[in-house]
Amino acid sequence: MIAANDPSLRSFVPVPEGSDFPIQNLPFGVFRRADSPAPRIGARIGDHVLDLLEIEAAGLFDGPELRGRDLLRGPSLNAFLAARRPAWREARQTLSLLLRDTEEALRDNQALRARALLPASSVEMCLPAQVGDYTDFYSSREHATNVGVMFRGPDNALMPNWLHMPIAYHGRSSSLVVSGTPVRRPCGQTKADTAPAPSFGASRLLDFELEVGFLTGPGNELGRPIPAAEAEDHIFGLLLVNDWSARDIQKWEYQPLGPFLGKNFATSVSPWVVTLDALEPFRCAGPIQDPEPLEYLHTPGAHGFDIQLEALLAPAGGRNEERLTLTNFKYLYWNMAQQLAHHTVNGCNTRPGDLVASGTISGPTRESRGSMLELCWGGKEPIRLSNGEERTFLRDGDRLTIRGWCQGAGYRIGFGEVTGVVMPALETSQLTAEPRS
Ligand code: CA
Repeated sequence: MIAANDPSLRSFVPVPEGSDFPIQNLPFGVFRRADSPAPRIGARIGDHVLDLLEIEAAGLFDGPELRGRDLLRGPSLNAFLAARRPAWREARQTLSLLLRDTEEALRDNQALRARALLPASSVEMCLPAQVGDYTDFYSSREHATNVGVMFRGPDNALMPNWLHMPIAYHGRSSSLVVSGTPVRRPCGQTKADTAPAPSFGASRLLDFELEVGFLTGPGNELGRPIPAAEAEDHIFGLLLVNDWSARDIQKWEYQPLGPFLGKNFATSVSPWVVTLDALEPFRCAGPIQDPEPLEYLHTPGAHGFDIQLEALLAPAGGRNEERLTLTNFKYLYWNMAQQLAHHTVNGCNTRPGDLVASGTISGPTRESRGSMLELCWGGKEPIRLSNGEERTFLRDGDRLTIRGWCQGAGYRIGFGEVTGVVMPALETSQLTAEPRS
């Protein structure tokens, strides 16, 4: 049998040149059809979505792992995520076979094709999973160093613990939104260094954070850590994350307990989850870790992935988007297996469909910085746009888009995009008005 990652595979479904979604990818997502309100699971191929409820109803998921288990009926990926890698592999292999130009089961079944293959432009994408918990790591050494230099100076840029463990905080899953959802500029408490007291109002330093997240598969029981060597069996796939940040709110609130309202007003994710199996050809070594991590964080072998990542800005009122940054997932110092091993080493449990994000991914050059804060170096070096404007942080009406892809020989395994436009803050009078009597 030809493996699902074979670059020579072709689908009978047309895949445009340079598409993120050739038959070698087959990411999973959740969508709504125009003619049916209940969310369904789909797989993406070229500019089409394959409706897996129709494939399930046609009895085509007939392998030993999936037959009769109803794992792909929706309304979210959670039941499928709980089912472990043999089921994930069987689903992907089944779809790979069904969509090949050499296989007739779907290709020659006109009625089923008409029901199951939908133009991607005709469906509404949803969050891929019901995310119970969202954790945000801080795993890019370049990002942590840049921020540390800005806030504490070059001598104390990395905190003493940073090279010994993957640092993270617990985020907020309630404000996760799918790509395309507008994001309202938050209001909050801020205090300028020179001001004697804080004030309340719209954040002036709204930022994006270019990140990649993974969705967890089978969970672990409370009290039972996931060993680093088994951690990748708990990672279903990856998606793009824009972890919007209000830097002025964050700066005033973050000590002593860390991020709170500056971070939890919105986090946007891309709708298609690219499986770890599809990314396998792009596995690569991560950075050398010195000092050597403690034993529970040992991950011999290659645990990085060569995923190119870009952030683009379409300025308010303009049509053209321009690239702000080009970076790569492989720069991350702490890998996903280490993140999950560390997250659970105290017995903390994960559940299927938890979102674990990388933290902002910056690279070694100025052009590879993953946030406005770093790109404009805290506001000191404004970014010049081709329309003559400058930016330090995001303005109302700006659209920020993150894209990601692995480049193979003649094909790419892509993530699509996560995009969102900044909406003006609510009038502060609406937030502080006296209750009517
Ligand atoms: Ca973040």
